[in-house]
Amino acid sequence: MSGETIGFIGIGRMGLPMASRLVAAGYRLVAYDVQGQALSAITAKGAEKASSPADVASRAEIVLASLPMPDIVREVALGENGVGAGTRAKLFVDLSTTGPRMAKTVAAGLKERNITAIDAPVSGGIAGATKGTLALMVAGPAAECERLKPVLQNLGKYFYIGAEPGMGQMMKVINNLLSATATAATSEAIVLGVKAGLDPYLMIDVINSGSGRSAASEDKFPKSILPRSFDFGFALGLLSKDVNLCIAEAEALGVPMWIGNAVKQMWLYGLAQGGPDQDFTNLITHIEKWAGVTVGGKRR
Ligand code: NAD
Repeated sequence: MSGETIGFIGIGRMGLPMASRLVAAGYRLVAYDVQGQALSAITAKGAEKASSPADVASRAEIVLASLPMPDIVREVALGENGVGAGTRAKLFVDLSTTGPRMAKTVAAGLKERNITAIDAPVSGGIAGATKGTLALMVAGPAAECERLKPVLQNLGKYFYIGAEPGMGQMMKVINNLLSATATAATSEAIVLGVKAGLDPYLMIDVINSGSGRSAASEDKFPKSILPRSFDFGFALGLLSKDVNLCIAEAEALGVPMWIGNAVKQMWLYGLAQGGPDQDFTNLITHIEKWAGVTVGGKRR
């Protein structure tokens, strides 16, 4: 409902465009981020500044969060000055990718404070967040999720995954394992083609007209890898975190994942080479070293 107050914690690469859409939709937004600059970016658009997650949760019944790592989500939800210490919040909605286990921990901790936790991780990147075309994977009690639907539909397509906390997170880490697999495999394949003397632009054109295509070949290569801008907008450390979360679930459930484990090692290698803050599209630069070639640059 427009005019309602919504809390928003974590105004980063994804948080800023999502929060901006809610302001534009007419919600009164109360925002918090540890970085003053991130917070200013949303207050400039009309949001009100809060001083802590607890402050946000004392001013809004619905609190959304888009935070980088699982431990940060735990602290923001359950820590001393966390959402659980607020006086008004009824729903805590985690849009971050934090894995099923953290979703369950947060849900159990907040339940003691009469706050329902909903996991609603998103897919579609900054472009999807800006255009409102994300896929939202929503899990939690049906009535509360239904109440959130009109809010979340401002951000993209609403998928109700199930009633158990963490089911949305499970869906999300499976999606990201596939996305990470396509990016790693396409990077390796294009490096091979370049070593063999093929034109990488032509290769991507052919692949996108053929059966080897994926979101990596259709989106990541043309936008950020072939032009070597490496600016897709998702940190390598965060994608590696997502793959690790997925493999940890597979291990806990006793499901073997040969390909998944190879993909996990590829991203750990990228992490060791380039650090967590690099854009994830840089993975190919670390693969190029094996073959002694450079992919892309100016189109021939
Ligand atoms: P980001 O690092 O750009 O943003 C995270 C924000 O959280 C930053 O502004 C940071 O200052 C803030 N923050 C950190 N600790 C905090 C705390 N204790 N309290 C309040 N704010 C805090 O990350 P991002 O790329 O926006 O990703 C956010 C989440 O969304 C991650 O879980 C990521 O895996 C997921 N995600 C990202 C993308 C993408 O394309 N970038 C796509 C889908 C999902």
